[in-house]
This record gives sequence, C-alpha cells and structure tokens, in this order.
Amino acid sequence: MDAPQTIEKTNALEPLIYEISTPGRIGVNLPKCDVPESDLPTELMRDDLKLPEVSEMQVVRHFVRLSQLNHAIDTGFYPLGSCTMKYNPKINEDMARLPGFALLHPLTDTAGTQGALALMYDLQTWLAEIAGFAGVSLVPAAGAQGEFAGILMIRKYHLDRGDAQRTKILVPNSAHGTNPATVTMAGMEVIELPSDSDGNVDLDALKTVCTGELANQIAGMMITVPSTLGLFESHILEVVEAVHEAGGLMYMDGANMNALMGVVKPGELGFDVMHYNLHKTFSTPHGGGGPGCGAVGVAERLMDYRPGPVVEIIEPDDDAPLYGLVEPPKTIGKLKAFWGNFGMHIRAYAYIRAYGASGLKDVTRHAVLNANYVRAMLKDTYHLPYPRICGHEFVMEGRFSDVEDIHALDISKRLMDYGIHPPTNYFPLIVKEALLIEPTETETKQTLDEFINVMKTIAREAHETPDLLHEAPHVTPVRRLDEVKAAKQLVLCCAPVMKSH
Ligand SMILES: *Cc1c(COP(=O)(O)O)cnc(C)c1O
Repeated sequence: MDAPQTIEKTNALEPLIYEISTPGRIGVNLPKCDVPESDLPTELMRDDLKLPEVSEMQVVRHFVRLSQLNHAIDTGFYPLGSCTMKYNPKINEDMARLPGFALLHPLTDTAGTQGALALMYDLQTWLAEIAGFAGVSLVPAAGAQGEFAGILMIRKYHLDRGDAQRTKILVPNSAHGTNPATVTMAGMEVIELPSDSDGNVDLDALKTVCTGELANQIAGMMITVPSTLGLFESHILEVVEAVHEAGGLMYMDGANMNALMGVVKPGELGFDVMHYNLHKTFSTPHGGGGPGCGAVGVAERLMDYRPGPVVEIIEPDDDAPLYGLVEPPKTIGKLKAFWGNFGMHIRAYAYIRAYGASGLKDVTRHAVLNANYVRAMLKDTYHLPYPRICGHEFVMEGRFSDVEDIHALDISKRLMDYGIHPPTNYFPLIVKEALLIEPTETETKQTLDEFINVMKTIAREAHETPDLLHEAPHVTPVRRLDEVKAAKQLVLCCAPVMKSH
C-alpha cells in the first residue's frame, strides 16, 4: 500500500463555523407554540454572545467533517495496546437507546425500575460467573475507579480485623500505570517488585518481601494479568500463595480479560478482588474520558465491603422476583452518583447475551490467536524483548540496531500516514522504545496482513528514507505536535486558535 509522501502542511481545520456565519441564516425550525406566549426576562438576554448563524446543512457538514478528522474504531484499525479497541457492535447502541432505558429517571421508584434492575442483576451475576467471583458491584465509572474501590475494600477489611499497620501494596514493575497511582490515591504505599528475564514477577524478590520484616505490613498485591507485556504470569499460583501467607489480599487488574474470558477464572486462581473494564472487554465505547464502567468482582470475604448500591433480589419469586438496590453492610461508601453508568451496563449486557458462553470463549481465543499471528509475522523485522507466546497483545521495540535515530514515536507517526492508529508507545516502561500492539479479535485476517505489510514497509523506509519517518505524519489534519503540550494544553474549543497548528 502506498502512502502519500508529501511533506506539505495540511490545513483541514478551516473554515470554522463562525466564519461561515451569515446574519439571519437559521438552522432550526421550532414547533408551533402550544403554551401562552410571554416575554423573556430581559436580565437573562445577552447580546455579547457571538452565536453562528448557519443553516442545518452547514451545521451537519461542519460537525461530520470534524468527526472525520479523528481516527476512530469505526473508520480504521486501532491496535492500541492495553486499551482493547475492539469494534463495538451497533446493536449495543440500539439497546441503550430503547426509550424505556434511555429515558428512565434515576430517582424512579423500585416498582417502576424492575426491568432496569433485573438487567443490572443479571449483568452482576454473569460478570461474577465469568471471572469466578462471589459478587460484583457495577458502580465504578472507570477501570482506575474500580482499582480505587478494590484497594479501599482491602484497606477496610484489614482495619476491621485490627490490622491497621497493613498499609503496603506490592506492585510489579510490569503493572499498568494506574496500579501504583491507585495505591497512592488510597493513601497506601507501593513496594515495587522487579520482573525476571522472562517477564514474570521475580519470585525470589516477592518471597523475600513476603517473609521479611515487612510481612505484617503487607495489605496486598496488585497485579495486571496478563501483564502490560502481554504475558500470562507463569507462576501465578505461587504469587497468590506467597501474598496470602503473608496475610495480604490479592488484587487483579482485569482490564485485560480479553485474554482470559471463558478460559481462566481469576477467582479460582485465588484473587480476592478484580476490576473489569466493560469499556474494553465488553465492547462498550471508550476514549475521550468516559463514561465507562470499571465493575469490581470480589471473593466471599469482601462481599460486604462492595461500593453500593448493588442489586439484590429482595423478594424471591420464581416467576417475578422483586429486585432492589442495597448498600452492602460494611460498604466503602459511594463512588458515583446514582447507580453508576447505566448506559454502559446495558451495552455490556447486550454484548454478553449476543455472544453467550461459548462465544465469549471464542472472543478470547481469537484475540490471543490474532496477537500471536502478528507477533510471529513481525518477529524477524522488529526486536521482541520477550519472545514467548503472548496473550491478547505483545510488546516489541520500535528501534533498529543498524539505524541510528529511529524511535518508536517515528514508527507510530508514520503508521498514521497509512491510515492506522499507532500502537501504545513508550509503555510498558521496562521495555526500551516499546510498541505495545493489541489487534483484538474483531479484525479480519486481511486487516492483520495489511498491518503486517505496512510495518515491514516502515522498517524498510527506516533504513532507506529515514526522514520520511522523522517528519511523519504527512497526511493527517495536523502534523507532528509537541507531545507534552498536546496532552497538557489541550485545545478543545472551536476558537480561531486552532488554526495556528
Ligand atoms: C485501561 C486500563 C486500566 C484503566 O482503566 P480506565 O478505565 O482507563 O481507568 C487499568 N489497567 C489496565 C491494564 C488497563 O488496560
């Protein structure tokens, strides 16, 4: 596939909607007034607001064009490691828009919300079954908030047992960045564990801490499985046992359940608490900061600590049980307004029902197969620091021993010229120039082959015409941005300042 090779600056952001404004042009058609007319209170009238005066078609074109300036899973391949950018089936959206769900007011009484509560109850039950836990809370609004809930539950569990000194959480250096951040946010302390040369947790280091003088200060361990290297921890049972023997609880970061569904149940491995990312594994949309759902699953001993409310059957009846919202007796408290992001619950529910048990198992098998296929096809072109079978994603190095000055960032930027979203780069931190690639199960073999070809082409370009990479991207609406400024000084408004990029 050929990518345009020009390096001319593109400027797809013009014109702005303010500039196409024409006095008197109108884009709305108000219905006939069916209430008595009255004058607007003058103190609320403002004439300093510059509102664009445009027709409906101009508005449509403006916003559709803006939407097309961004890469999206609905427009192209998105192998963003650790994010599971799978295709989100549109039937999920249809279900979430059913008026009975979409228009339900959160303060409607229990009698008027039985259908919604039944859906939440089933979703709790299925998620618990999928990961082998005693119960689930759907409240947390993101993976990171699920982590926060999990660590607060662990903390409260120890406090209730008079173990106030248990304030330390073990975190391997292959963990997702949110893990140590969560520990700190919860007022606990991180003990970082090294990885061994195979990418597993260094068992000796773990056992030394778990049997050393800090043992009775260990509150637990947070581990990402598969790790952010895309690797399934080979000694997971020994890790769980070592921490439990020291009196700590085990937290699993389950954002990577796309590699485990239907195959491994973390609860059966001995984990006490885990969060799911419904907005990854269970195909509810994500990006842009939410809304999401980081439901938490817990083992029996943490059931009473779950963030509320959870849905329970309050009056059993084979035909029509009565569902109600309940606060678990020792709950860590409220994390989110009302009942969590209900729209996400509906989408995940639709997804699980559409696939069924055997379908979810196929999701995992295909996700793992796809990642291993791409890994095997690229292993002679790019360096793989951990050359072993991976889970749903794998990490490789975005640099070449025989070309100077080509970085993961250059490869990522060049991918954009070929219409492919870059993989996660510079993460995990323990791999130099890391590129973390997650194809997901929803892509066809044709797409994977095209990606493999593009990656090989880029490797060739890196050797023959390296400036093509250094100056990429060439064909995107904006060229290479200052990475730090782009993240820290985000320009989200439609003001003319955008034109300066
Ligand atoms: C995405 C992710 C998280 C955080 O989830 P958010 O919903 O973005 O807060 C945590 N851990 C892992 C491994 C992830 O991939």
